[in-house]
Amino acid sequence: MTDYRHILLAVDFSPENRTVIEKALELARKDEALITLMHVVEYTSAMYAGDVPLPEDLALDQRLAEQAKEKLQQLAEERAIGGMERRVEIGVPKREIVRVAEEIGADLICIGSHGRHGLQLLLGSTANGVLHLAKCDVLAVRVGK
Ligand code: AMP
Repeated sequence: MTDYRHILLAVDFSPENRTVIEKALELARKDEALITLMHVVEYTSAMYAGDVPLPEDLALDQRLAEQAKEKLQQLAEERAIGGMERRVEIGVPKREIVRVAEEIGADLICIGSHGRHGLQLLLGSTANGVLHLAKCDVLAVRVGK
């Protein structure tokens, strides 16, 4: 099997993500791959304001993005992945994850089979969307029951 060179690790900050992070770190150590750690702030503006986002919605998204940057930094420090690149995007998680994977030339996307939304589903909606849209390999790490 070919070694992976660049892993995009997408986290939604749910407790389930710990397993996903461990798996990505294990793979990265084995393959000497880079990791980019990523979070998507779900885009709220368009849902509430139609085509033209209200300025206060955009400001809220920006504030959430700032908080997410701090959380990613904490996570990276806790897991000793401080040197890794970190990305925070605003939008629809599955689309942003796939877009960033292409932009950075990731050859593996690492996500949980479930996160905050998917515990009732066979495969969470983001996981399902990424599996369908991604042009590179996707590892959906089994989490939960
Ligand atoms: P879901 O399909 O929404 O249950 O989530 C499955 C997995 O997709 C999670 O375990 C994360 O790895 C990833 N994911 C979901 N939402 C986000 C998000 N907003 N930002 C980054 N990754 C996410």
